[in-house]
Amino acid sequence: MLTPKDPQNDDATGGNSQKQDSTPQNDFPGSTTEFLQHLREMIGNLGEMPFANIHRTAAEQRAEEERKGKKPSPLELIQQFSFKPREIRDYLDRYVISQTDAKKVLATAVCDHYNHVRRALEDEQVFRRDYAKSNVLMIGPTGVGKTYLMRCIARLIGVPFVKADATKFSETGYVGYDVEDIIRDLVKAADGDAELAQFGIVYIDEIDKIASRAGEGQKDVSGRGVQVNLLKLLEESDVRLIAQNDMMGQMQAMMSMQRGASQPTSINTKFILFIVSGAFDKLDAIIKRRVGSSLIGFGATSADSASDTPRLTQLPDDELLRHVQTGDIVNYGFEPEFVGRFPVRVVLDHLGVAELEKILTTAENGIWEQYVETMAGYDIDLTAEPAALAYIAEAAEREKTGARGLLTVLERTFRDYKFELPGTGIKALHLTAEMIREPAQALQKLLDEYADSANQLAHAEVTAFAERFRQQSGFSLQFTPKATSTLVKQAFAAGKTVRGYCEEQFKDFEYGLKLVHRDNPQEPFEMDETQVANPQATLTQWIKESFPQ
Ligand code: ADP
Repeated sequence: MLTPKDPQNDDATGGNSQKQDSTPQNDFPGSTTEFLQHLREMIGNLGEMPFANIHRTAAEQRAEEERKGKKPSPLELIQQFSFKPREIRDYLDRYVISQTDAKKVLATAVCDHYNHVRRALEDEQVFRRDYAKSNVLMIGPTGVGKTYLMRCIARLIGVPFVKADATKFSETGYVGYDVEDIIRDLVKAADGDAELAQFGIVYIDEIDKIASRAGEGQKDVSGRGVQVNLLKLLEESDVRLIAQNDMMGQMQAMMSMQRGASQPTSINTKFILFIVSGAFDKLDAIIKRRVGSSLIGFGATSADSASDTPRLTQLPDDELLRHVQTGDIVNYGFEPEFVGRFPVRVVLDHLGVAELEKILTTAENGIWEQYVETMAGYDIDLTAEPAALAYIAEAAEREKTGARGLLTVLERTFRDYKFELPGTGIKALHLTAEMIREPAQALQKLLDEYADSANQLAHAEVTAFAERFRQQSGFSLQFTPKATSTLVKQAFAAGKTVRGYCEEQFKDFEYGLKLVHRDNPQEPFEMDETQVANPQATLTQWIKESFPQ
């Protein structure tokens, strides 16, 4: 439970903690189980997080930090939350293409939530008042920006953010991932700051997978159970920072308690914003059935009046989804209480070729920019002609995985380029539609064009190998110009890099040369083209010659 701090009891442990003796307590009577139980109780007794602390200490801190001219902490940013929905939308527009509805709905829900949080932190009465959170349910296919939108928002307002797939949760929590683990993950995302984690955003994807299917002639495995567990988090509940079955965590807490460090033991979910999402396959059929039945006079609703019905049934499926009602989601397999905790609902748009192309060309910090960065890592300046990007968008659309399709196509396109081009001396790559259509031929053409520079770099690699060998072994290997050329030719013929080839060919040389030059390690070893053609034979010959006959 969140309780305002007792001003008389200024101890973060709520006054329950006992001063610990610094000597180790090795003499606990009883069994290991009893000892662990005792341990749990001691940790439990450390007390609850005093929420009111936040008002006071943050105000004090702010005043102090203002004096020092410091930047506000993330928690202070929440306390100073002043974004307007349209400002958040404008920020999202820079990164996320399309999804106009979702941007508007999410921006408003987030502002509602954090305005309330700010006011609750300022005013004890607001804090105590019941408040229905603006938790959001997003419906939309994969790869259209659901997670990305939320990540961008969390980054903008500076709150911790975690994402998990609902399929990960186990009903019991004894094995696998417990729903409460996601709250503990939020603390990790807040760099261990449990206070800040209480104002974070939890995003659960694939929520449609925990729909109870019992109604459809299938056995409901654990969907309903997970929904019930999640419901507890959605309402106000305290989550222990250390899981019941996390013995190691409990030991560590015990040890830090003995050292006198008092950590909060639980965090409260009252101000955590929950976002869930899923593709909800076949939900359109449920909506269609509903509006179809209302056509013949049953179940007509105020939102979709009978006069709307013929129009609704003719809508394309993703348009139809926009008319989703609570009853449809309940019919899909969700508990009414669960659906009721998500008053904000929004349907995300399917991304067509035009949107995918825009993601490549205009999204700030987007997928294409990542590729430019990747190539810059190899000192290659990547550019593209517009037709090439349009071609990538078309191919990506065929993947039917939203913007993820762009990554797939780009990866496929660049895989060989990234593998073959570094080390050839190529400094710029201008992607054309032709290069995407016929990648193998285009790559070979480039490699032929850069053959001379690749050759020169390969020669330099032989020298670089000799230098590394000298640094590692202390022996100086010197290759004649013809020997260097031979090594380069052999490496190319074997389809290897010069570095890899030389390392393999001369792998026994460090040990062998020690035998040869026991007395004079400084003397250089010069190798000509015949010797490098068969380094092992040369080394054996040198060893033989070095021993007196
Ligand atoms: P999902 O809808 O499955 O949560 P994501 O948000 O994880 O999809 O999208 C995967 C990646 O695709 C994002 O990290 C982002 O780079 C890109 N992306 C997806 N949708 C958009 C969009 N509408 N605008 C810009 N980039 C997008």
